[in-house]
Amino acid sequence: MHLPGGVARPITVYGTPVLHRPCAPVLRFDAELRTLVADLFASMAAAEGVGLAANQIGVDARVFVFDCPDADGVRRAGYVVNPVLEVIGTARSAFARRDTVVADAEGCLSIPTQYATLTRPGRARVTGVDVDGRLVAHAGTGTLARCLQHEYDHLDGTVFVDRLDEESRRQVLTAHERLAAAGGLPAWSAGAGSERNA
Ligand SMILES: [Zn+2]
Repeated sequence: MHLPGGVARPITVYGTPVLHRPCAPVLRFDAELRTLVADLFASMAAAEGVGLAANQIGVDARVFVFDCPDADGVRRAGYVVNPVLEVIGTARSAFARRDTVVADAEGCLSIPTQYATLTRPGRARVTGVDVDGRLVAHAGTGTLARCLQHEYDHLDGTVFVDRLDEESRRQVLTAHERLAAAGGLPAWSAGAGSERNA
């Protein structure tokens, strides 16, 4: 489920408009889509990430890739086009059983090196299609469950900080802005060196 031969592209930073609006469904299953998926894998690897959505490399398309372990430590890599997400456990439900939601540190390549604790359902499943339009499904627990939800959120224009309480959100974004202003973003970030180009 991994498409090789891609080229790493710069990863967009929080505040870039394409990250903050829903992405468009993929309608054409052509060479361009195959290149996009391969480039997403290459970009994720270059940034040592566990997941990456198309709008994080500036492309308005409902596609994401992942490469991370599930709750049993089994590494799973794959991608999905036009995903539909199902979760088991509802973080906001007063009736949620404790074992159905998990609080853990979460971060995002579009807000590099910043982390915050976020509670999410502990199991997730996405269904969608591959680059040839064939049906695929990916289900996961642990980091994979978190990743599937995080990447799906990206395609709806939601970044993980949007799910934090106001105080935590402000802390993460303030630290991010300071790091960016100091020229401290990683080389693979589209925001790297922006203090020199501003
Ligand atoms: Zn992210």
